Amino acid sequence: MPLNPVLIKDGHQESAEDFNDFPELEDFLNSNHGDAVRLPNDVDLETIKLRLQSIKTIIVDFPSFADGRGFSIARELRKKYGYSALLIAEGPLIPDQYAFALQCGFDAIKVDEGTYARQTESDWFNAMDAFSLTYQRGYAFKQGPALSVFDARKTSVGALNANDPYFGLSAEASLRQSIEDYNGKIAMVSSLGADSAVLLHLVSKIDKNLPVYFLDTGKHFRETLAYRDLLIGDLGLTNFITLTPDSKELKAEDPKGDLNQSEPDLCCALRKVRPLDKVLTDFDARITGRKRYQTPDRKNMPTLETGGRMAKVNPLAYWTAKDVTAYIRKHDLAPHPMFALGYLSIGCQPCTTRVAEGEDPRAGRWRNNDKTECGIHYIDGKWVKVPHKKTFEVF
Ligand code: SF4
Repeated sequence: MPLNPVLIKDGHQESAEDFNDFPELEDFLNSNHGDAVRLPNDVDLETIKLRLQSIKTIIVDFPSFADGRGFSIARELRKKYGYSALLIAEGPLIPDQYAFALQCGFDAIKVDEGTYARQTESDWFNAMDAFSLTYQRGYAFKQGPALSVFDARKTSVGALNANDPYFGLSAEASLRQSIEDYNGKIAMVSSLGADSAVLLHLVSKIDKNLPVYFLDTGKHFRETLAYRDLLIGDLGLTNFITLTPDSKELKAEDPKGDLNQSEPDLCCALRKVRPLDKVLTDFDARITGRKRYQTPDRKNMPTLETGGRMAKVNPLAYWTAKDVTAYIRKHDLAPHPMFALGYLSIGCQPCTTRVAEGEDPRAGRWRNNDKTECGIHYIDGKWVKVPHKKTFEVF
């Protein structure tokens, strides 16, 4: 059975549905209309020169990844013929070639889903890194108005960057940049959940002394506390800070320690929100492990979110679950001991249950309760409770 094609644009997978069944060159030339064509990699561009201005999409064929003639076609189309509309490379290209394709003037590449799946999304997205750096380096040296279609395209890359200053940076690069930008005023809060090791590992590569806060509610699985100690040792973190609730407040508001059963929101406020609130006011930015795939409203989440009192840095924004798994395997990171037992999202012991096969990973948290998160959302200078049923805040 043939594999479905996918389009890779801006480092991400999109449906290629609109780009199937394009007319071959001969059919295109034999008809006097049509604004899309598929070009073989030995095309003589003079044959379509007069109709280029009316073409909205060109697909260039790459029969094998070792045949690079399509790259020259793209360069010629952009530089010699001034073609400025959509240009797509189609064939079994790999991430390194994706970056090069962008540099040659392609907007996107079309591969089959098998080729796409042989890499992780971050491989494709990281290829954008090479592309952005190449473009930006050239742009920085050139002054004045755009000189060519390549310069004009740099402007659009700049516009994307204006919305997300860390656009196109890999997870590690954006994390590194944020630590530099918010020098001394940035911290991470870790839940020590199922995939927390990824971000902690990235932090440890850049700055082992970055403040990392963990909320010890007094209700965690003992495995979570052991996991904390294991990761601190394995990763050599030197500024890992465990926060605990105020003992006087605990005594006054939850003397029996069972507030979670009657008032879980108050319990979270007492054990998580307030202790964290006290320390985060000293910082301007917070690193999170949130990812776009987790909820629909995170679909376009930037890597750097600014605007409120506290910026949020989401280095893993564009990662998929597959990326997380690939990273954990690659770096042989210790898994949370509860994960293998069916706890796919791990919080406090009284509020966490196993997840059954096929269930939402988050279904085991506050089961049989409307509550879905801890309310630890710092928006526009204050903590607010976000009223979505499915949120995946990291606590
Ligand atoms: S997760 Fe449960 S036990 Fe933990 S602070 Fe919230 S309500 Fe209390």
